[in-house]
Amino acid sequence: MYNVLKSGSEIFIREQINIRNDLIGDVVIFRTETRNPNDWVPKIVNVSKVRENFPVLRRFLETLDQSQKKKWKKFEADLLELAMLNHAMLKKKATIALNENLLQKDGNPSSGEYFVPKKSQYQNHCWKCGSDVDSEFQLSHSECKWLICSQCGACGCGFDRS
Ligand SMILES: [Zn+2]
Ligand SMILES: [Zn+2]
Repeated sequence: MYNVLKSGSEIFIREQINIRNDLIGDVVIFRTETRNPNDWVPKIVNVSKVRENFPVLRRFLETLDQSQKKKWKKFEADLLELAMLNHAMLKKKATIALNENLLQKDGNPSSGEYFVPKKSQYQNHCWKCGSDVDSEFQLSHSECKWLICSQCGACGCGFDRS
């Protein structure tokens, strides 16, 4: 599921994620400039800033009259449908954005490629945030060959093996 967020005249969507991950660091939101989700650009924001700077559309709707509200509702529903239809692609974009952001933060910017591992259904927990790393979406980082956590973006790079 996704939420629609509004900041000024810009409209964003954000995937609803679990509470545990709401407590940590950065999340991805997508700016929805066009009707084509392929064009939607991921933006990393600290979760503490999301509510403040990107309030949900619902609050904005309350300021509209009935007919305007109806239009926006339709618009919102269309966006959410587009997001759901393109969930796998958006998830991939978001995971890469989170991974790049983490590596950058660690002072370890990687030029590594991303690939979908052949062997699926590998299950484990993310060493960084504890989320399940498997199921819904799998993407690996070529530098470490680890699956990337789709919640926080961690791969094997930066894992302390000692
Ligand atoms: Zn994680
Ligand atoms: Zn890696």
